[in-house]
Amino acid sequence: MKVLVTGAAGFIGSHYVRTLLDGGYAGYEQARVTVVDNLTYAGNRANLPAAHPRLTFVRGDVCDADLLAQVLPGHDAVLHFAAESHVDRSVLSAAEFVRTNVVGTQTLLDACLRAGVERVVHVSTDEVYGSITEGAWTEEWPLAPNSPYAGSKAASDLMARTYWRTHGLAVSITRCSNNYGPHQHPEKLIPRFVTLLLQGRRLPLYGDGANVREWLHVDDHCRALQLVLTAGRPGETYNIGGGDARTNREITERVLALLGADWSSVEQVADRKGHDLRYALDDTKIREELGFVPRISFEEGLARTVTWYQDHPDWWKPYTEPEGHR
Ligand code: NAD
Repeated sequence: MKVLVTGAAGFIGSHYVRTLLDGGYAGYEQARVTVVDNLTYAGNRANLPAAHPRLTFVRGDVCDADLLAQVLPGHDAVLHFAAESHVDRSVLSAAEFVRTNVVGTQTLLDACLRAGVERVVHVSTDEVYGSITEGAWTEEWPLAPNSPYAGSKAASDLMARTYWRTHGLAVSITRCSNNYGPHQHPEKLIPRFVTLLLQGRRLPLYGDGANVREWLHVDDHCRALQLVLTAGRPGETYNIGGGDARTNREITERVLALLGADWSSVEQVADRKGHDLRYALDDTKIREELGFVPRISFEEGLARTVTWYQDHPDWWKPYTEPEGHR
């Protein structure tokens, strides 16, 4: 078994690859992994083992069709994580989001088709559905993205669908809620707040903090992806929800409590443009069809995550410096 994983020097993809190399996925203990990642500001080679007998790291761009044509043949499966992933950056400038998330996905799907790859999982997000005031989105819900990030992911989902419908490429799409865990870039809410507090700085909370998100530990997300890879149906979309809905205000309170601080460390700042109020996924399909159940409670996962950042200043401190990690 040979698996190619794009974007695996980032947060979620690297967790998937580390788990796989550690023998964490039954039947894949001997699988060989090729990672394709061009190491943007969000990618960090140190998220993966420096050397491992079953790992090949290729520094490359998913928009590079020639590179993919060289690297892909011989792989049985592809997991596609590579993306520009930060909503705030997409509000400032959307071009790179369209290039990587839309053109990159189409280039990769094309390369998979030509190389005869048997199974592809396209990793997407609940943000493609927009915002919902009550109830929860099923996979059939219309796509109504609100940020350029979400728009580019929605477009990539539609490209994936067309490669299934037109060419029969065995691709499944997953749409997960907000992830948290170790190795997440400090630009994202939880690691940002944790690392700011660890530096004795104040937490900039958007608006009144009433925005609701579902939170899933990265390890549960990656287990769900492995289930979709091995037992999911090609052509299908699977929502992956955490079921643990929290307002940003609650997240802030929990992080403050875990680090022995109080609300005086919080500074309310102007809200993000077009900030979605509430996300909620109906994940009945993956639970009933593939037996997925999250294992890590938010309380336990958050406490472990805070401890990880406390124990790994060498990992996150370079991100707080002007030059970042590279
Ligand atoms: P991340 O920003 O931590 O990592 C993205 C990785 O992709 C980085 O290593 C980066 O170097 C690489 N990359 C970017 N452009 C590339 C290109 N053109 N070619 C090759 N590599 C490139 O992101 P993440 O949080 O790990 O998210 C991974 C995937 O999961 C994304 O597709 C994202 O949309 C999706 N997702 C994320 C979340 C979340 O909460 N983080 C939730 C649901 C879905």
